[in-house]
Amino acid sequence: MRGIGRKFPEERLEGIGVCQGVAIGNAFLVDDPRGRVVRFFLPKQQLDAEINRFREALHLAQQQVREAIERLRAALGSDHAYILEAHLLMLQDPHLQGQIEKFILENQANAEWAVRDVTGHLLEVYAQIEDDYLRERGSDVVDVSHRLIKILSGTETRGLNELAEEAIIVADDLMPSVTADLDPRKVLGFVTNAGGWASHTSIIARSVNIPAVVGVRGVTSRVRSGETIIIDGTTGTVILNPSPETLIFYTEQRSRQQQQEQHDIEERELPAITFDNQEVKLRANIELIEEIEVFQRFNAEGVGLYRSEFLYAQAESGLPTEEEQFEAYKFLAEMSGEAGAVVRTFDLGGDKLHLEGFKPERNPALGLRAIRLSLQVEYVFRTQVRAILRAAVHGNLKILLPFVSNLDEVRAAKQIIADVERELRAEKVAHAEDVEIGVMIEVPAAVLMAEVLAREADFFSLGTNDLIQSMLAVDRGNENVNSLFDPLHPAVLRAIKQVADAGRKLEIPVNVCGEMASNPAQVILLLGLGLRDLSMTPTAIPTIRRLVRSIDMANAEKLALHVLTLTTPNEVHRYVQTHLSELGSQFLTTAHFG
Ligand code: PEP
Ligand code: MG
Repeated sequence: MRGIGRKFPEERLEGIGVCQGVAIGNAFLVDDPRGRVVRFFLPKQQLDAEINRFREALHLAQQQVREAIERLRAALGSDHAYILEAHLLMLQDPHLQGQIEKFILENQANAEWAVRDVTGHLLEVYAQIEDDYLRERGSDVVDVSHRLIKILSGTETRGLNELAEEAIIVADDLMPSVTADLDPRKVLGFVTNAGGWASHTSIIARSVNIPAVVGVRGVTSRVRSGETIIIDGTTGTVILNPSPETLIFYTEQRSRQQQQEQHDIEERELPAITFDNQEVKLRANIELIEEIEVFQRFNAEGVGLYRSEFLYAQAESGLPTEEEQFEAYKFLAEMSGEAGAVVRTFDLGGDKLHLEGFKPERNPALGLRAIRLSLQVEYVFRTQVRAILRAAVHGNLKILLPFVSNLDEVRAAKQIIADVERELRAEKVAHAEDVEIGVMIEVPAAVLMAEVLAREADFFSLGTNDLIQSMLAVDRGNENVNSLFDPLHPAVLRAIKQVADAGRKLEIPVNVCGEMASNPAQVILLLGLGLRDLSMTPTAIPTIRRLVRSIDMANAEKLALHVLTLTTPNEVHRYVQTHLSELGSQFLTTAHFG
């Protein structure tokens, strides 16, 4: 293990750059995707209280285990309680208790971190034992450690939102709710072991414009809190122990980046029109209502996707009420101008946020999520629709249904929306009627049925993130299969073409709101496939605007037409890379092909 203050040679790790920009700062290690086990430096006068907090947790853990032993004895007899008895012995071990308390005092650390660190060392000792049986007992250490941490974080949660100083977050992975809660003024960047371009952590990083590199295997075991690290979110490079020369190089890079940001603001009013006069709509994807300021800064044409489930992530407790939602959607309606905003109904479940009271599923990506959940827990959907229809009086709002896999779901949702309208009318509550209802195309079945769905939808929104995941059977957040998550796979491109054609044939607008719309190389193909309406993370807008203004649409169409004849992902990548020089290669980095 590295010790703080010791000098090590510079080390470079590679991952996937998911939000451009350079960050230089001190690492802050987070050991839990929920952000529970984080490292705090406590003032000396708080240490006695921290020791007491730990002792209370220890006491509670002992009590829990004793009760569990009793239950087990009563149900199955004494022989079966021996594992828990070992846990109890560990929790009563004065040596272990002493070590944790000593760690808190000597390191001015919070109890969660002390438990994690001390038990982590104990685990390393167990791992070296030759006897299989004894080595396996390491799992008891893990159990005891988890129990203590769970109690501690339940009694007093110290989250990442309480970060005292600016830092670069280093974590195995982060839950969307944790990332959503981060204070962008304190978080300079983040690096994770897990994740891919379209994972939720990456989406949030882009939306708050924090440089980020994901899929850096083993980074959490190489970095210690407090060490200086550099991350380059454009190339996906993470540098540990940078040399003075490297620090100078990246400091200059960072100031060039700041100049570019200034330049982007100056260009914000320029129209997104190609050389051959084709207009492209550039809209914003918004996760947090507070971000609306960012989207105005880049002069987006309204909000193409508002991921409303983040209201749930931010709510103090449980689901946001009708009034809370009304206020949020009203604000969105007022701020998004004439072009308006598309409110996607809660996309809960799956790999995102979970509705309280619902058990974890074995296969959440294919489980009770999004529109399926809304139709099953109808009051949640009705409350949301009421709030949207009421807020739509204050501007131009549209409703978008996520993860639709069949026409029945669209009909059922529309029926509930019509019913809510009647209810509001009867109650004489101000609301908008005939709000447009769109369907997200992000399941292969919806692609195949696009023409049928187009007859009953007012517009389509192509969710390429889930579409790629489900078409290619590749988890969008799993770094082990990241290279297979390929937006340039011929099947994906053909699916997109099919949806664009269905929209044109049935004369409904088709927008793209997945991450492909933020990626210059992929945008050229989207345009070439006939799409003219893109919704992206706001910070990508300047680059995509410059790209659109530097190409001929006819060339993009020619490129796409040829690409559709290719049969393997490799052929597509090679062809696109060699022909992009004719189209605007100054925008492209290797990260754009991921
Ligand atoms: C998508 O799947 O492409 C999409 C836009 O929705 P989300 O990323 O929120 O699942
Ligand atoms: Mg989706």
